[in-house]
Amino acid sequence: MQTYPDVKLFIDGKWRNAVEGETLSVVDPATEEVMGRIAHARKADMDLALAAAEKGFKIWRHTSAFGRSKLMRKAADILRTRVEAIAYMMTREQGKPLAQSREEIVAAADTIDWFAEEARRTYGQIIPARATGVTQMAIKMPVGPVATFTPWNFPINQIVRKLSAALATGCSIIVKAPEETPASPAELIRVFVDAGVPDGVVNLLYGTPAEISDYLIAHPVIRKISFTGSTPVGKHLAALAGQHMKRTTMELGGHAPVLIFNDADLDKAIEVTAAAKFRNAGQVCVAPTRLLVQDGVADKFLDRFVKAAQAIKVGNGLEDGVVMGPLANERRIPAMEEMIQDAMAMGAELKTGGKRIGNEGYFFEPTVLANVPVAAKVMNDEPFGPLAIVNRFATFDEAVEEANRLRFGLASYAFTSSARTAHELGRHLETGMLTINHNGLALPEVPFGGIKDSGYGTEGGSEAVGAYLETRFVTQMIDVG
Ligand code: NAD
Repeated sequence: MQTYPDVKLFIDGKWRNAVEGETLSVVDPATEEVMGRIAHARKADMDLALAAAEKGFKIWRHTSAFGRSKLMRKAADILRTRVEAIAYMMTREQGKPLAQSREEIVAAADTIDWFAEEARRTYGQIIPARATGVTQMAIKMPVGPVATFTPWNFPINQIVRKLSAALATGCSIIVKAPEETPASPAELIRVFVDAGVPDGVVNLLYGTPAEISDYLIAHPVIRKISFTGSTPVGKHLAALAGQHMKRTTMELGGHAPVLIFNDADLDKAIEVTAAAKFRNAGQVCVAPTRLLVQDGVADKFLDRFVKAAQAIKVGNGLEDGVVMGPLANERRIPAMEEMIQDAMAMGAELKTGGKRIGNEGYFFEPTVLANVPVAAKVMNDEPFGPLAIVNRFATFDEAVEEANRLRFGLASYAFTSSARTAHELGRHLETGMLTINHNGLALPEVPFGGIKDSGYGTEGGSEAVGAYLETRFVTQMIDVG
């Protein structure tokens, strides 16, 4: 019999209650049942975590790259043995179907392995000197204790990229994990503990997000901030980090356009776009949102995409065959309703969905709006739910102009059988990531990040490691006689 646990803070190698004993409740989004409690950190707990991270950094930075890599690989292997137990917790707390929870955990193990390999390749440089006897070196050093803030949509995967990059490079870390989905992140931390990570290297807090970020970002022990969440919060935290000269990585909101050209393979376009749109009930920063379809295939695409949305089985993620679970929290329901009503008031056509399902659990119908005016809220703000917009375009230039209209620049998708169109899209779309004729985003070895108001820095590929390293220059003269 699987049960949902109460969750504690993890500080200096120990699971502990908050100093003041405060707790928060955790709600199952499929049933609205309070199923557990988490410890709520305040200043005293943060001070303990900061002291631990400072101590942990001294140990971890002097652990060899090979040793760090080995421990990380062990943690990944342990994680793989716990997929079923953790997937249950993740589905209970977040709502996504079990298959998607399992996928997330397996992908996390893969991410840890990839960063473990990179740990052994944080090469510096020897720069040819002008004078005989001089050796010039650019060496890479860990930036220091890191503070990370991550959201509830991917409880493990939002953390694992930051945690793995920090550990690979020799940084210690304080993870402020999502309060709504706390148990699966705690299990991620546990695999590192069980793999033998020294006390203080990894620390875990929950609490009031603004209170924790204000305190940690300003604190002198913390040298780097990594945040994933909405653009307004990201701007606020980046400004705060700027005041204290802290390095930052910002993974912020998106509003992904999907450009479907007359020459596209429509079966493929519908299959890939529907799967990506309704995965995790659309609560994904790279979810397709503005589906822009060229006139020649627009009617056919819309008709078939609506049928694909209607075919999705919505229900409790623990049940067999469920493809879409509930929204992760209650406030997403009015957010969705408001966007849909606003669009319809402006003349958009509701093709399917549009309402909450039942009155227990935060279930919402897969929704498709067509011919939505650009002034509608949903055309400008991230819907972050199971809501797709299908609009038309006539020419390549028109599609690119609409795709680039917003301040976001995270993910974009396109479907075309023309190599020339594909090539031109790569040059013209203002986007951090572009996937053409398939969904190839978010693997550990490729860049993951946005441009414009979607943030800066990448959390995948070799650059992700660089974000946790600083370059120091050492020049040395030896008298060669
Ligand atoms: P929100 O803006 O209140 O919170 C988003 C995330 O930021 C949460 O994890 C929250 O804990 C954190 N956060 C908020 N204020 C913070 C602060 N001052 N310091 C540190 N962390 C802080 O919104 P929400 O209702 O939880 O989610 C709705 C919106 O958030 C969505 O519309 C979406 O735009 C965005 N979001 C984005 C992602 C992503 O993957 N980029 C994930 C979740 C939510």
